[in-house]
Amino acid sequence: MKQTAKIYVAGHRGLVGSALVRRLQASGFSNLLLPTRRELDLTRQQAVEDFFERERPDYVFLAAAKVGGIRANSVFAGDFIRDNLLIQTNVIESARRAGVSKLLFLGSSCIYPKFASQPIRESELMTGPLEPTNSAYAVAKIAGIEMVQAYRRQFDFPGICLMPTNLYGPGDNFDLENAHVAPALMRRFHEAKLSEAPEVTVWGSGRPRREFLHCDDLADAALLLMQEYDEAEIVNVGCGEDVSIAELAETIRDVVGYPGRLTFDASKPDGTPRKLLDVSRLFAIGWRPKIALRDGLEQAYQWYVENVETKGVRATVS
Ligand code: GDP
Repeated sequence: MKQTAKIYVAGHRGLVGSALVRRLQASGFSNLLLPTRRELDLTRQQAVEDFFERERPDYVFLAAAKVGGIRANSVFAGDFIRDNLLIQTNVIESARRAGVSKLLFLGSSCIYPKFASQPIRESELMTGPLEPTNSAYAVAKIAGIEMVQAYRRQFDFPGICLMPTNLYGPGDNFDLENAHVAPALMRRFHEAKLSEAPEVTVWGSGRPRREFLHCDDLADAALLLMQEYDEAEIVNVGCGEDVSIAELAETIRDVVGYPGRLTFDASKPDGTPRKLLDVSRLFAIGWRPKIALRDGLEQAYQWYVENVETKGVRATVS
């Protein structure tokens, strides 16, 4: 990848896209295409085709997606399957037509079966039923993987697929109801601290286990794979360690400095019992994460206080 290469980061205002832009800029890539949603609606086929025809990017990071936590995935399942299918189909097809040098598609660890054996190897894909709370999103992402792989076979399309574990970091969506667990709890603890509430409720039993990766680590891995990986097989991206939701909640309580109690609301869904990725394929390429969970949560909390709280920035779901 030449430093002058024209790079399109789709979804550059989201958690992953903004981390990719920081990472690319830090490495000296300055020819970045970053249209806003108003300038380019990725669900509109003609608009996306026109954009690719006009701009002819060399590299595409497909980080645009409709994403959310366990509740948003259930409540807005229709939006999630429609928007994600449209966005990825439009971008992948337009990239093929424009003859890009490489496209990197981002999936998710929720593509794997609910009861996949742990840690989850890439070969677990489509070996069992999905977790119902996010099956609409997962099916869209699985379709994206199939599309990239089918395009590789039929058209020699230079696409690769990464499956990140649960991500967090600056630029996240901090919506109390619709965000993922880490930002939602960060905000809930923060607000409880300010209002001196005696307790904070954590959804579910606290027993599910999740693996958390900082978005800057994901961006680092994505840039490496964009440059060094060109195979049809999907690649898991994680840190190789997981924690229970109860442990995560305790850590976030500490980071926020909330002195009150923690209670669990068992009427809320737990989702998949465990989602730890097998990262041996990625680690064999020589990559390792750099940001420890506690440090990353502290940094994300600082970003939340400085941006969402102080400046009223609402990190959008993009
Ligand atoms: P998932 O990995 O797809 O299940 O996504 P989430 O990040 O939304 O949820 C992870 C786990 O955290 C689930 O077991 C949730 O029930 C639990 N959880 C606990 N409190 C919260 C919360 O406030 N918001 C969310 N989204 N999840 C929570």
